[in-house]
Amino acid sequence: MSVAQVVGRFAPSPTGPLHFGSLVAAVGSYCLARRVGGKWLLRMEDLDPPRVVPGAADEILATLESLGLYWDEAIVWQSQRTEAYLAALSKLRDKGLVFECACSRKEILLSAPHPGEEGPIYPGTCRSGLRPGRKPRALRIVVPQEQVCFSDGVFGPLQQVLAEAVGDFVLRRADGLFAYQLAVVVDDAAAGVNQVVRGADLLSSTPRQIFLHACLGTPVPAYVHLPLVVGGDGKKISKRNANSRLEPEAGAARLLDQALRLLGQKVPGCLQGAPATELLSWAVQHFDQAAIPTAVDGLMVNDFPL
Ligand code: GLU
Repeated sequence: MSVAQVVGRFAPSPTGPLHFGSLVAAVGSYCLARRVGGKWLLRMEDLDPPRVVPGAADEILATLESLGLYWDEAIVWQSQRTEAYLAALSKLRDKGLVFECACSRKEILLSAPHPGEEGPIYPGTCRSGLRPGRKPRALRIVVPQEQVCFSDGVFGPLQQVLAEAVGDFVLRRADGLFAYQLAVVVDDAAAGVNQVVRGADLLSSTPRQIFLHACLGTPVPAYVHLPLVVGGDGKKISKRNANSRLEPEAGAARLLDQALRLLGQKVPGCLQGAPATELLSWAVQHFDQAAIPTAVDGLMVNDFPL
């Protein structure tokens, strides 16, 4: 029996320059794909035009190249994938899973019974049709009262009941833009991605994505979530862009070394001061998934001066 080739990917949002947290996701996903001779694809998640920063995508690409993180195949730009998202939406509609929702954010907040991990849990207000005079805003998918179970490559077995944790979630927003959850599933499936490696901030999105794969009949990839890099104030550093921006003068080898150490990899002392290419080829040969920690205790941004 032949074993399928690993297809990994890195999917940055060009909302600013690559920060150290994203760099860790890039290095982790690259090494986990390349160590088994897999492909590593690149997708620019420029789905939300108002959040896209001009020049950010080019800056991200230049940083990846400076680290020797070269991708396979043409870059996929989410801004050019509208037809694929529409097709997925119509497939879900045909299955009777999509409904129009007229609720504003404020109405949901007022009517939601309990706050969920990611804001109010949609209480199902418009699930069985809009009340007269109400205008449709977003499109949502009906979620079942069932447990979604998966085993994360770092965090182990996890489960979530979507109806209790998030409720019927948005596929297309009131502003007409497609939701990240739908886009990521459609794009990963279209590219044949079978290994998703990314920051643990997306762990709670994973059950929604697994559910969408099941609804669309596409294969569920393996998931590996990486520990988040938090600053001294406990905040994810991407939220502190001023402090987390990668400065070119930091040196590619030093950044790679820091990312690998954060991922629990025991970089041999003899590689200290080695060029980035040598460090990366060591990492590709020796990357140990079992060594990735779930948390980086007490890590201060100052421990990883950029
Ligand atoms: N674009 C997302 C981010 O930059 C990552 C999405 C994903 O890896 O699924 O946080």
